[in-house]
Amino acid sequence: MHVTVQRPKCIASGACVLAAPEVFDQDEDGIVVLLDDHPTEEHHDEVREAVRACPAAVIEAFEPDVHAT
Ligand code: SF4
Repeated sequence: MHVTVQRPKCIASGACVLAAPEVFDQDEDGIVVLLDDHPTEEHHDEVREAVRACPAAVIEAFEPDVHAT
């Protein structure tokens, strides 16, 4: 899984951090910070939940990982 975020579109709701705290964080302004753009399998469900939960639709999760060989 390859995860991307569009920080300029983030509205700082924090929903992604609640869903997947080991993959997403927020900076001092509340804007999303991507901690892990290739999360391990155990976090995939959480990331999918974050994609659904994000009110600004700024998170994308690509499966399968485009970088996987
Ligand atoms: S859920 Fe979306 S809008 Fe909210 S902080 Fe995360 S990326 Fe930003």
